[in-house]
Formats: sequence, structure tokens, C-alpha cells
Amino acid sequence: MSLFTREAGAFFHTYKRLPLHIVRGEGMYLFTPEGERYLDMFAGIAVNALGHAHPRVVKAIADQAARYIHLSNYFAQEPQIRLAELLLTFSGFERVFFANSGTEAIEGAIKIARRWGSTRGKSSVIGFSNAFHGRTLGALSIMDRPSYREGFGPFLEGCRSLPFNDAGALRHAVGPETAAVVLECIQGEGGIRPVHPDFVSTLQELRQQYQFLVIADEIQTGCGRTGRFLASEHFALSPDLVTLAKPIGGGLPLGAILGASSVADILQPGMHGTTFGGNPVACAAGVAVLEELSEQSLMQHAAEMGTLLFSLLRDCVTDFPQLCKEVRGLGLMIGLELAGEAEPVVTAMRERGILINGTDKSVLRFVPPLIVTADEIHWTVRVLREVLSGISSFQ
Ligand SMILES: *Cc1c(COP(=O)(O)O)cnc(C)c1O
Repeated sequence: MSLFTREAGAFFHTYKRLPLHIVRGEGMYLFTPEGERYLDMFAGIAVNALGHAHPRVVKAIADQAARYIHLSNYFAQEPQIRLAELLLTFSGFERVFFANSGTEAIEGAIKIARRWGSTRGKSSVIGFSNAFHGRTLGALSIMDRPSYREGFGPFLEGCRSLPFNDAGALRHAVGPETAAVVLECIQGEGGIRPVHPDFVSTLQELRQQYQFLVIADEIQTGCGRTGRFLASEHFALSPDLVTLAKPIGGGLPLGAILGASSVADILQPGMHGTTFGGNPVACAAGVAVLEELSEQSLMQHAAEMGTLLFSLLRDCVTDFPQLCKEVRGLGLMIGLELAGEAEPVVTAMRERGILINGTDKSVLRFVPPLIVTADEIHWTVRVLREVLSGISSFQ
């Protein structure tokens, strides 16, 4: 029986799998049992920042697994502390909480905001249209897309979603009861849509007036992908809390909340916790990622490679105006909005050996490992142009 028949027989049907059997990865490439090679330009959805089987990550995992794999949070553990210190150094924050996943980091941040607001008469938490914060009920409560929410309600009381980048709607909706506003500086799943600087100004003004927390969801944008450690640095947002996940465990499950001590210190022992969060093997892998990021200047590399990719994709918009509408993003988080569905283009790229990802129906998403080279970017766009040349129009 084929891999795909077995898969369909075994699982809840929550995922659409790609028709590829991967047995191994190395750097920017994935390999099939027949030894066919695919250039990976989406990195397991922005997770594999150092590509596949990076020797430093592999060694960190093996070494830590041989020491201890789990002790429980009764113990202070060197890999956790080391990763926390690196995250604080890179981000300028003062406290870290480790979770297992992105949605769990969001869940924790919402809880902290609620707890912080509980002594201030504030409980409302606001998110924005098109956002993606994960699949738990807290995350869904501040999202708006029916495809994620339909049939799963009722959601958390006092939570709502406002139109993204609509300063008027924000002004109208926030008030003294607002505990927190949660946003992605560049919406990832929502189609690589950056927050507008005017919207950030309004948010800052209202935050002064009403004293609510700003939570930046940097699960996809964070850890250097945009050319800065946090995307919020590009937008002068100064969030009170930041959520991280995707790349921080080197491919192992790990999430984090970063906070200023003034907010973080409202949580006392026993108020929040997790069995697996901050698993030492995942943290050791994360240390390898952040050390490599810094020693190899990968943030600067991401900025440079992003500039190249952005300009090559902008040329596609110029040369294929019927097919390509707009390029958006920063660093190595770039979206090309098409005039039609992304899926056939993604498939045609795959058939030519390049893996990219479609999101928000019509957006090609490029979130490659941060180690991608200029040659690989040129190759990707050359193949994309070939594919676009074969399409006369989207009907
Ligand atoms: C992926 C993602 C999440 C959810 O992370 P999980 O680990 O899948 O729970 C939340 N927010 C953003 C911005 C993401 O990209």
C-alpha cells in the first residue's frame, strides 16, 4: 500500500498532504526515495531557519538527548536558561515563558493579559481580520476567518476581531475595558500583509490613552526572518508581550512568550505552567539556531536575500501584469499576490523541483531557510517566470 493510501486510512482528515514522499533533508534540499531533489523555499512553514539536518542542530539534539530528555519544570535546566538568555539578549525583553507551540504561547499571552487586566477592570482582548494565531479556542476567539472558526463556538467572552489596518475601527472599539490588542506585524497565513505605519501610530496613541497591553504575535515573523530579530522593530511597536514559536526549537516543538518584567511578574508560582514546555532537547536545538544566527550574521543575510527576492518578484509584477498583482513583505518573508489561485502555480513549481507555498488562496508565500543563497533565489524566480509564461490568464 502506498504511503498516501495508508495516510488516508489512518488519520483524521485535517491535512491536505503534498504528493511527495520525503526520506531525507539536507540544507536547502529535500530528497525522495528515488533521490530526486527539491529546493525547499518554504522551510516547513518558516520553521527550518537553518534548513534541514543542520550539523549544529543535529549535534545539539544528540548531545542533549544523551544527557537528559526530560526532567520537569521542578528543575532549573541549563539549555532552557541558555536559550532564555539568548532570546532576551536578542529581543531586549526581560522575561521568558516556554510553551510547546505557537497557539499555546498565544493562549498564555491572553491569560497574562486577562490576569493583568483583572485588577484594572479590563478583560477585553482584540485581534484583527485575516489574522492567524493558532487553533486553540483562545486563539480562535480573536480571529475572524470562518474557515478556522465555523462550528467551534461559542468563543471566549470579551474577545473580538476588528478590520486589520482600519484605524477608525480601532479607535471606535478600544476603551478602558480593553486588556490587550494582539497583532501580527506582517500577517503570515493571512497573505503576507504588513501592518500600516499609520495604524501603528493610532494604536500607540490609544495605548497611551487607555493603558492596554500590546501583544505582537511574532511566531512566523520572529527570530531574524525579516532582517531584524523581531518584525515589531521595523514598526516601532514596542510590544508588552511577544509570542514566538516556529523556528525557535530548530524544528522541535517549542513556543515562547517574552515580556517586560512589569507584566511578566504578575504571574506567581503555580498560576500558569506546562509539562513539556521548554523541553531541554528543543531548547538545546534552539540555542544552536540562535548561536548560528548570530555567528553567521544570518539576520543581515536574510535582509539582503529578501531585498533580492523582493526586487526579482517585483519584476514579475511588471512583466506579467495580468497574472501578478503585488509583492509584499520584509526580509525572507515575502508574498506575491496573484490575480488568480496560487495552487496551480505552486504545483507547477513543485513539478519543476521547487517547493513554495500558497496562502490566502491567491498569494505565493516565500519563507525559505535563512541560509538560502542568491543563486537559489535567482533559480526560484527563473522557474517561476517559466511557469507564469505558460499561463495566459487566470480564469
Ligand atoms: C503558525 C502560527 C501560529 C500557530 O502556531 P502553532 O505552533 O501551529 O500552534 C500562530 N501565529 C502565527 C503568526 C503563526 O504563523
